[in-house]
Amino acid sequence: MEKLPWVRTVQGDVPAASLGHTQCHEHIYLRKGPSYDVNPALCMDDFSRSLQELSDYRAAGGGAIVDAQPGDFGRDAAVLQALSARSGVAIVAVTGFHKLCFLEPQSSLPTLTVPALTARFIGEITQGMTSPDGRLLPARAGMVKAALTEGGLEDPAYRPLWEAAARTAVATGAPLMVHTDPGSDPLGLMTFLTARGVAPERVLLCHLDRTVPDTATHLALLRQGAYLCYDTIHRLKYHSDAEELSRIAGICRAGFSHRLVLSLDTTNERLRAYRAADMGLNYLLTDFLPMLRRAGVEHGQIRAMCRSNAAHLLSFRISPSAGEQENQT
Ligand SMILES: [Zn+2]
Repeated sequence: MEKLPWVRTVQGDVPAASLGHTQCHEHIYLRKGPSYDVNPALCMDDFSRSLQELSDYRAAGGGAIVDAQPGDFGRDAAVLQALSARSGVAIVAVTGFHKLCFLEPQSSLPTLTVPALTARFIGEITQGMTSPDGRLLPARAGMVKAALTEGGLEDPAYRPLWEAAARTAVATGAPLMVHTDPGSDPLGLMTFLTARGVAPERVLLCHLDRTVPDTATHLALLRQGAYLCYDTIHRLKYHSDAEELSRIAGICRAGFSHRLVLSLDTTNERLRAYRAADMGLNYLLTDFLPMLRRAGVEHGQIRAMCRSNAAHLLSFRISPSAGEQENQT
């Protein structure tokens, strides 16, 4: 199999092996906007508080995160770059789209055709991301983000975005992260994506541990080769840590620890430097991984879920036309 050694972070391309402990679905900086209007917990716009969280994460052994907020949905790529530089945590930014209720009102995304959307998403991966004030930055996105709602692929407001996300993933080789809503159809989505040439191994399906109660669906997706992100850890309005532990242990027993990644999907209510009383971005490292060990999950499985799976998922063949040091053999 071809080796895919590079990960595209906001500070440039780094060897996948250098990432270390990685959480693939986080929100470390989120501008105040429509997401705040939907839910005030969805705003983390204080640089020093976000930096504190990243510094604590680094001190606990964290190496990298994916910030899961795309452009026009509250991302600030320049801030992500500065946070990464100051904290030493590698940050992968995303292009693509989130739920349209989070879209900033001035965005042109709803007016664009599929080719124009595709060009925009590809450009954010190959050329640079756009800042909220419209400047083209040198920092590039390293992952495609897409949101699967209950209306799914048949919703005309989302269909062009999905077509563009799939084309971007195929054209660049970048991994594709999928937000899932309750009632959405991830198996149907995989049919759509694979028909367009997206390999299942390039897809990360997020939130299934709170949105899809049926374990058989999880296993069917894993058998296809997709990665799952279990990110409802210590999110107690959904379920307890004990329940999350048993779900993770069940996936490991079924033989799929090589396809599972763990994350926190943070909000300001779940970050100590903002409003949380009992957890921060480092919660996995300080509290949850010891619980997993005590629950009997093997060291090698934990290492896979926190390190090597993310390294495989996030790495892709950097296009030589993008001016990178590609070493094709
Ligand atoms: Zn999220």
